[in-house]
Amino acid sequence: MDAPSRPSPDFKHSFHALGEGFFAPHKPMPVKAPEFIMLNRDLADQIGMESDWLASPEGLAMVSGNRLPASARSLAMVYGGHQFGHWVPRLGDGRALLLGELIGHDGIRRDVQLKGSGPTPYSRGGDGRSSIGPVVREYLGSEAMAALGIPTTRSLAAVSTGEEVFRDRPEPGGILCRVATSHVRIGTFEYFARRGDDRRVAVLADYVIDRHFQELIACEGRYLDFLKQVTERTADLVAQWMLVGFIHGVMNTDNLSIVGETIDYGPFGYLDAFDPTTAYSYIDRRGRYAWNRQPMIAQWNLSRLAESLLGLIDENESAAVSRANQALDHFKPRFESRFHAGLNAKMGLADVRPGDAELAMDLLERMHAQQADMTLTFRRLGCLDSCDAGRDQSVRELFNEPESFDAWAIDWRQRLAVENRPDADRCKAMNAVNPAFILRNHLAQQAVDAAIEKLDFEPMRRLNRVLGRPYEDQPEHADLARPPRPEERVLHTFCGT
Ligand code: AMP
Ligand code: MG
Repeated sequence: MDAPSRPSPDFKHSFHALGEGFFAPHKPMPVKAPEFIMLNRDLADQIGMESDWLASPEGLAMVSGNRLPASARSLAMVYGGHQFGHWVPRLGDGRALLLGELIGHDGIRRDVQLKGSGPTPYSRGGDGRSSIGPVVREYLGSEAMAALGIPTTRSLAAVSTGEEVFRDRPEPGGILCRVATSHVRIGTFEYFARRGDDRRVAVLADYVIDRHFQELIACEGRYLDFLKQVTERTADLVAQWMLVGFIHGVMNTDNLSIVGETIDYGPFGYLDAFDPTTAYSYIDRRGRYAWNRQPMIAQWNLSRLAESLLGLIDENESAAVSRANQALDHFKPRFESRFHAGLNAKMGLADVRPGDAELAMDLLERMHAQQADMTLTFRRLGCLDSCDAGRDQSVRELFNEPESFDAWAIDWRQRLAVENRPDADRCKAMNAVNPAFILRNHLAQQAVDAAIEKLDFEPMRRLNRVLGRPYEDQPEHADLARPPRPEERVLHTFCGT
């Protein structure tokens, strides 16, 4: 009997259609001996790629860059960016290639990209490759983020290349196949604006509005509305990151998506013990991108987007500046309302009342002073009895001085009493917002070490399975819920490009 036919993906090319100046057409460089490490069949089905095709030799050939489907037109996108506050006029995809777009069963058009597929015209001396380490980190990071319900790029597949890349030492090479709603970044707008290429700024803005902000197409003043919406989506995203203790690590303008999705998982990390000033990234010596600075940095980045759009907002520059500032002013209230609503949900409060923000801040301050684990504190809070403090030990023991929690819990119980929600309902609601499992830095590191040192991908696969259901207790995987022991603690995270 004939093997069932497996249609190859039908890539579309709306970005390619923007034409000259937006990208460099470029082919991936083949690799020696590619093998799948991870394959995301559910995602393939969702985005309109036959998962059996992806798992086939043709699928492997695509993901490794060895042979692309006939419908692909690979290209490297150009962008600039403010890196740690300093303008870099041209970055671009130095180790990534966009293959095209797929339209999913849900009607959504998504970019499919290879990362680590060889040098491009934007490689700036880099090898265009990736070690298997960052591939493992990004795969796990993005899939865990998606499972938490936070907007993010996704990982469709990861392969080992059978080749070595040279970092501080030789390491096995890898390629990630990534899916995004958009790969346009704030830095893409900056690139054209700062060259004075007003025409391409307008073409890009129209393209992005057409594809991702369709409700604005017919609006007069749509560029200002666009800025406002990007501002809101970014505020929402940063609030969601912070509520799970996520630190992006390199919030440069080239790493901030125009559609409010988490993108570019480099030296990201999660808080274990709650300390708002934590910055793990090895390259971020001054803590520019620390957990508690992310809202401010996001606003700073959005101001760079606003600058790039000024000419489209109003012909009169000072009018444009004042209107853009009004749009940017939406950030703070939007962020604060999302963040505080989120904290309320994390504390098990169904509505928001005066004094709630102070109650939440009091808890966070005590967690900080007492080195309490952020994830476990909130998760275990869900199971506590709203009337009886006698069974608080599971949370108390997370605080260096348990009495510090006791004092807060008195106020918390008083506040719970106002709502009078049955404990079982509250526990269920809290468990749906307070994950039991996050991608703790030491776990990501263990998965990376096993991959690099032994080409052992089992730790990665197990983590991926467990983190796919972060809001379920999964007692058989309790070892993945606990904080790091002192000797396991990761002090710095690396891009390790
Ligand atoms: P990232 O730190 O991943 O956001 O990358 C910043 C810039 O450096 C982007 O333009 C990347 O494409 C480029 N880049 C990072 N790693 C490499 C590499 N190994 N080879 C070439 N370009 C790279
Ligand atoms: Mg980047």
